[in-house]
Amino acid sequence: MTMIKPPAVIGIIGGGQLGRMMALAAKEAGFKIAVLDPAEDGPCAQVADYPIIAAYDDPAGLEKLSKLSDIVTYEFENIDADSLDELQKHVPVPQGSDLIRITQNRQLEKENLTAAGVPVADYKIIEHEQGLYDIIGTFGFPSILKTATGGYDGKGQVKLMSNDDLAEAAELIHQNGTCVLESFVDFDLEISVIIQRNERGETVHQPVAENVHVNQILHASIVPARISQAVRENAVKLANQIADHLQLIGTLAVEMFVDKNGEIYVNELAPRPHNSGHYSIEASTCSQFHQHIRSVLNWPLAPAELVKPVVMVNVLGQHMEGTLDAMEKYPHWSFHLYGKHEAKTNRKMGHVTILTDDLENTLQEIDESGIWQTRIKQEAQS
Ligand code: ADP
Ligand code: MG
Repeated sequence: MTMIKPPAVIGIIGGGQLGRMMALAAKEAGFKIAVLDPAEDGPCAQVADYPIIAAYDDPAGLEKLSKLSDIVTYEFENIDADSLDELQKHVPVPQGSDLIRITQNRQLEKENLTAAGVPVADYKIIEHEQGLYDIIGTFGFPSILKTATGGYDGKGQVKLMSNDDLAEAAELIHQNGTCVLESFVDFDLEISVIIQRNERGETVHQPVAENVHVNQILHASIVPARISQAVRENAVKLANQIADHLQLIGTLAVEMFVDKNGEIYVNELAPRPHNSGHYSIEASTCSQFHQHIRSVLNWPLAPAELVKPVVMVNVLGQHMEGTLDAMEKYPHWSFHLYGKHEAKTNRKMGHVTILTDDLENTLQEIDESGIWQTRIKQEAQS
């Protein structure tokens, strides 16, 4: 595919904050944006040239998107892969549908990670309730049961500490069908590597992020991650191995656990820009959103180097009020709000990015702001 240049129209399936930040990056270069999303006035629609209000698999909506767009990308993985195949007959979708099929199903994801030769936590596929009872005796506790499809931000998961949790786990299988049972990894910290590749075969990764989760939702990212050079190199090597195996075009976010011995286990994949890469807007020489557009449009990829150490903290519904107050107090914080109308508890409303020369001070400042209840540890555990 030849490189696509402005004023082409980029179509985005999905209209949340990831679509919005992709759109803003693309518009800087003079592209126009069409977006397909069922919500009226969603985060991406607010900045798009051509909002299309329809379900992601609505044939009329998809037809409209294909007519308006010169090329199509997506901002999340839970879209219908067959619809994407249909769409490809009418408009280029450089990322294809295979990556979507794999990353929207934890079973396929685990199988592909194993085939790529990267370590994952021990796991078993559980098709029905009886399967769980049959296996748990030998598999053991603590473990974690995850629905094969549809989970996000810790939804669709049950942690199993003892037999007492079996009833809740059985209910998850009953409600959702096939699940993946995983051993609980006693990790020191979580990291992620965002890797991006174009049709020219160029691959670039963003600086490795250290991620702090609260209630299984990303709370903060610290970059550079507080890991050794050896662990960093291994993380990047594993991400490259996966990208090669999947013949990636576009963006792949690879979430990993690092244990106290520095061993890495790959947790999950996302075929799109990732919350743990939002820091890159200010702190990388090419943000994950700019690079995503480059990779999908077959532009040469730009170096993505860390400009300065950085902390990104998510703003959920319950943090909105404090964040609005902080705008007056912290001129060195970069505020990103996604334009969502209702500030529901645990809903991702925005994030703040703080470039820093003194991580200790910055973590203390975040803590003293009183916006967030969780304290980010001064020292990475290890
Ligand atoms: P999602 O992000 O789609 O909700 P994840 O599988 O990434 O699902 O789980 C969310 C979080 O739950 C992880 O970031 C991690 O903190 C915790 N978690 C998930 N699986 C495990 C595991 N096997 N061992 C330890 N912690 C886990
Ligand atoms: Mg995750």
